[in-house]
Amino acid sequence: MPKLVFCAKNPEYVPASSSELIRALQKTGFLGEKWQSPDSVSGERYLIGDSFLSLVTFMGCAPAIELEPIAEQPESTEFCHVEIEEIKSAVEFIQGSDHLISRCPHCRHRHASWNSLPETMKYSCDKCGVESHLSEYDWKKTAGCGRFFISVHGIYPQEALPTSHLLQVLEKISDTSWDYFYIQ
Ligand SMILES: [Zn+2]
Repeated sequence: MPKLVFCAKNPEYVPASSSELIRALQKTGFLGEKWQSPDSVSGERYLIGDSFLSLVTFMGCAPAIELEPIAEQPESTEFCHVEIEEIKSAVEFIQGSDHLISRCPHCRHRHASWNSLPETMKYSCDKCGVESHLSEYDWKKTAGCGRFFISVHGIYPQEALPTSHLLQVLEKISDTSWDYFYIQ
């Protein structure tokens, strides 16, 4: 299933308290109740909240996606819901597409040949030579870095965009600014 993934711009960010963050996101109506999912479904997953459709803008015609668990297939994760992902022990680079294209944060030089990513997560631009952390490169919404991610399952790349209000809400409750990307 495709996902829309939120990550803090500071890749080291982890919430001081996941449960407080979840409560705040429920209060704003981004998250609804916890999904009482079958054992076969891992992770901490929530139904979408009452304000979800005003915090995320669907492009084009009405979305042809399910917004509630599928009654006939209780184990199916193929509906729009939100997963609060487990905190990772170290920063990870999450790649959402096979063809990564990025731009250097200093000179905007386009890098299109990412055959292997540096383990140090730092890379010196081929053009200007300035070394930047991978989280600083502009990945055109196809990748992101971090230790903590919030994923909206069931959304294809560019199918829906978070509103600036949602990004502000995230920033307010976490005290850090956020970005997003898509996993196909
Ligand atoms: Zn550069």
